[in-house]
Amino acid sequence: MTNLDALIVGAGFAGLVMAERLCNKLGFRCLVAEKRSHIGGNAYDFQDRAGVLIHAYGPHYFRTNSPRIREYLSQFTAWQPVEYKILSYTDGRYWSFPINLNTFEQFLGRPSTTEEMEAWLANNRIPISDPKNSEEVIISQVGRLFYEKFFEGYTIKQWKRHPRDLDASVCGRIPVRTNRDDRYLRENFQALPSDGYTRMFDRIVAGCGKLLELKLQTDYREILPHVTFRYFVYTGAMDEFFENRLGRLPYRSLRFEPESFSPRELEPRLPIAGKRGFWQPAMQVNYPNDEEFTRIVEIKHATGQVCENTTIVREYPQDYGPGCEPYYPIPAPDSTALYKKYAEWAADCAIVARQLAAMGACFPSGIPNSVFLGRLATYRYYNMDQVTGMALTEFEKIESRERSQQFL
Ligand code: FAD
Ligand code: UDP
Repeated sequence: MTNLDALIVGAGFAGLVMAERLCNKLGFRCLVAEKRSHIGGNAYDFQDRAGVLIHAYGPHYFRTNSPRIREYLSQFTAWQPVEYKILSYTDGRYWSFPINLNTFEQFLGRPSTTEEMEAWLANNRIPISDPKNSEEVIISQVGRLFYEKFFEGYTIKQWKRHPRDLDASVCGRIPVRTNRDDRYLRENFQALPSDGYTRMFDRIVAGCGKLLELKLQTDYREILPHVTFRYFVYTGAMDEFFENRLGRLPYRSLRFEPESFSPRELEPRLPIAGKRGFWQPAMQVNYPNDEEFTRIVEIKHATGQVCENTTIVREYPQDYGPGCEPYYPIPAPDSTALYKKYAEWAADCAIVARQLAAMGACFPSGIPNSVFLGRLATYRYYNMDQVTGMALTEFEKIESRERSQQFL
């Protein structure tokens, strides 16, 4: 039996940020169990066979408005500023995207102004004061024509649901601008870890020293009978933890199809890519309508890696099932209602302990405190910075509990 202070499930942003704080601030002895063969969760990146640094699970564009989160992560990485710029491809041509004055000019086929675009939008948008779903949030900003061109098809492909059956927050993430700002994201800090995400996570793990034991390719359920712990931190899927007893939460999955190119193979692409060593003209091109995939990502545009080869990755949305990863929680009223029932169980340490005991855990010194954390365990369409912030906040709650107990 190994005596731990905390057993942590998952080595993504949520699990590793929590582990780092617990080890370095409270001197906790932690074990992180990760079922995959690598750290970093969905933010994992690696050099592929062509020597190109790629994001293994889709493009991960770091951004934040929070100085606290930026400062925290800056202990483990330097940053390379990136202006995330993408394009949309439909009607046989590339469009500036998200919708901005350049897109409007492409649509008109002539130069225009912010005033003209605003007047056009005022005539075309459908007045909805409080948009309730993803269709309403877009048509209330840009009207049906742009909604149908850029959003409807993409969203149905991505989510296998109509935009009207998805929370407004899904399409509401995408900015609409009447100036020439064509950056994909809104946040004021936009950058990638200079040496990649995996190197950043390596440093987080190394900084914990002997207090952290990391077990890769290990489902936490294998470990439960062999450890004791005072805290249980879970960053996997909430319904899976409770063995789907209230029903399965819906997730959307993806299939990633990478393809690499040598300089010779890239030569004919030069007129399209616009520069040598690249396959397409931007780090991401969205395909809202005519293709089965939603986007093609060429992350080398963003990482700035100097490498004569390049790799593109096509993303095909797919149902979640055996052999697939639950990449996206589906933000919609029905799934949120089911999640809330699970969340009530998760908030009760006695219920969580019973579930753990059924899987072989024993608690000689009382039931552990439990924390459900991260994108899957809170069933939220959260970005990396939000998950980091959530881990820091949950850590602070543990810290104040521990400190107050010291004085008892
Ligand atoms: P995860 O990274 O999913 O980590 C959870 C870990 O728990 C996983 O590694 C999993 O293997 C492990 N686990 C689960 N169950 C078990 C078990 N039983 N035993 C052991 N281990 C287990 N965010 C951004 O900020 N910018 C982006 O551009 C962006 N793009 C994205 C693109 C895609 C395609 C996807 C899917 C996500 C994107 N995100 C992006 C979101 C980002 O991936 C998440 O916010 C972040 O990775 C969440 O971290 P996490 O630790 O909560 O979850
Ligand atoms: N979206 C769309 N068309 C686009 C880009 C995005 O309809 O060209 C919608 C789609 O529903 C998508 C959501 O906006 O799931 C959020 O897009 P984002 O690029 O942020 O998705 P992620 O990177 O999280 O997959």
